[in-house]
Amino acid sequence: MDMEKTGKFIAECRKDLGLTQAALAEKIGITDRAVSKWETGRSLPDASIMLELCDILGISVNELLTGEKIANENYKELAEKNLNEIVKIEKEKNTKLEKAEAFIIWSGVAVSLFMIVCGFLIASDNSIVSIALMYFGGAVMLVDVFYAAVLEHDSGYYECQNCKYRYVPPTKAVIFAIHVGSDRILRCPKCSKKDWHKKVLTK
Ligand SMILES: [Zn+2]
Repeated sequence: MDMEKTGKFIAECRKDLGLTQAALAEKIGITDRAVSKWETGRSLPDASIMLELCDILGISVNELLTGEKIANENYKELAEKNLNEIVKIEKEKNTKLEKAEAFIIWSGVAVSLFMIVCGFLIASDNSIVSIALMYFGGAVMLVDVFYAAVLEHDSGYYECQNCKYRYVPPTKAVIFAIHVGSDRILRCPKCSKKDWHKKVLTK
């Protein structure tokens, strides 16, 4: 599979429809950054949204993966095989991202707590170093939490409990939403009900 060819083909089909990257992204419920990544061949559309994308662009999955219009559609089986392969890759990618996220959160929290505790312990001996350690520890924790939220935003989707719509919310919404574990209170872009939305790995 030639990802660059597929990317150029997506861009071509999108322009033929007179859509901007942002407009296409909105139709699918993803970020325009993702569309830009496909079109430059840096990533492939997730399997879970590939059918939706093909439907909008008026092409088959087979054509998308081949990167050009196919006159005689006679290798449907091949496309299905490709699709299964891609679903597997996507799940693996998102699982890896989740693991990396957990590692970053806990190691970051450990480092910052260590600095804060050290700062506290030496407070009576060296107040300047102590304050610096505590402030720096706090700063590390803030950066850590922010980075973890960005990572979380980039892996998988959120599912509305009400209408079961799965989507990628704006990064800002993910960072500032009240959450327990990976579930967050978000507003559904489809039914606009505000509720706990569950994190899911595929669309
Ligand atoms: Zn909904």
